[in-house]
Amino acid sequence: MNKKIWLASPHMGGAEQKYVKEAFDTNWIAPLGPNVDAFEKGLAKYNQIDHVAALSAGTAALHLALIMLGIEAGDEVIVSSFTFAASVNPIAYQGAIPILIDSEPNTWNMCPEQLEIAILDRISKGKKPKAIILVHLYGMPAKIDQIMTIASRYKIPVIEDAAEAMGSKFRGKPVGTFGLMGFYSFNGNKIITTSGGGALVSNDEWLISRSRFLATQARECAPHYEHEVIGYNYRMSNICAGIGRGQLEVIDDHINRHREIFNYYKRELSIFKGITFQKEPNADFHSNYWLTCIQVNPEKCGEVTRDQIRIAMEGENIECRPLWKPMHLQPVHCDKPYYGTGVSDHLFENGLCLPSGSNLSDEDLDRVMDVIKNLLSKALRKQAKKIEELVTYDN
Ligand SMILES: *Cc1c(COP(=O)(O)O)cnc(C)c1O
Repeated sequence: MNKKIWLASPHMGGAEQKYVKEAFDTNWIAPLGPNVDAFEKGLAKYNQIDHVAALSAGTAALHLALIMLGIEAGDEVIVSSFTFAASVNPIAYQGAIPILIDSEPNTWNMCPEQLEIAILDRISKGKKPKAIILVHLYGMPAKIDQIMTIASRYKIPVIEDAAEAMGSKFRGKPVGTFGLMGFYSFNGNKIITTSGGGALVSNDEWLISRSRFLATQARECAPHYEHEVIGYNYRMSNICAGIGRGQLEVIDDHINRHREIFNYYKRELSIFKGITFQKEPNADFHSNYWLTCIQVNPEKCGEVTRDQIRIAMEGENIECRPLWKPMHLQPVHCDKPYYGTGVSDHLFENGLCLPSGSNLSDEDLDRVMDVIKNLLSKALRKQAKKIEELVTYDN
């Protein structure tokens, strides 16, 4: 059997073990410590933001962000429908109601038109949404300026879900830093990893210091354990932060490689008119291309579907996944209010993520390409032959 090719797997840079060893040598094996402080400083510098709280997960970061905004049971929170469930679950943790917004076809992220339609409709029904969670899916910046204009028109705070998008930029500015708060994820498969972890970021000092306080069990300043509010155990461990410090040293190399992989696939597949890409609409958008995502149009691919490509890959020990299934189609969320025109339904039906890890070799990529090219060429040849026969018969 050929070596397994993963969609995206952890890619260590080299310095991670040095920082983890430091934690052992100084016995800082705890959910805070010098690696956590240094990782937070490094993240702030890299993302050009003033304040950072390193946490146990991106999901924890979003949960705290909603708590900071005072989201309570019965409140409504707007969120992109085309995303991973972790963008929506923390809304439910608070007993609040997600209002799901469809994608637009350029970036595949939140549609500004549907967003405004939703806000007006929710207001007319008697409830103004309390927050907007804007997702930058697969690393692609959303239409940030249009979304921010609408959000400020109705004075609704924006939380950016940049879990997949650290290092992506909009007009030269890192995503995650446009809203009141933003967050990143360092899960094993993301652009950099701490094995598991996340960070909440903001230019507002109080929001971040208060988040750190809530993330460490909301322990008041007193010699004994004193608690005035509900707390959480959401802080990042000093061991994980050591891995993160090493990863920060190589993040730009990772992103360069992800972008190289995207360009390779795009070049190699350009001969097939039925394959299209999630790509930067113009020079304002700079994606980290965490995953290269394609749309497969069977009508122009000799009737080959995305599932046929996925299964052919599986046969060659290559991992491929359909795109995220939109939340309005998920059994757990399909009863929630949804505003859209079916854009993300279509993206999900025909979409496929290709192996995109920064540790893939050129040979790995060639293996992936061979599977797709063979499948499509064969199908297109067969179709061409059929048409030829029909034409001959007609004559
Ligand atoms: C990974 C991810 C999250 C959650 O991050 P965790 O660190 O895994 O909790 C949230 N939103 C999106 C879009 C993600 O891909």
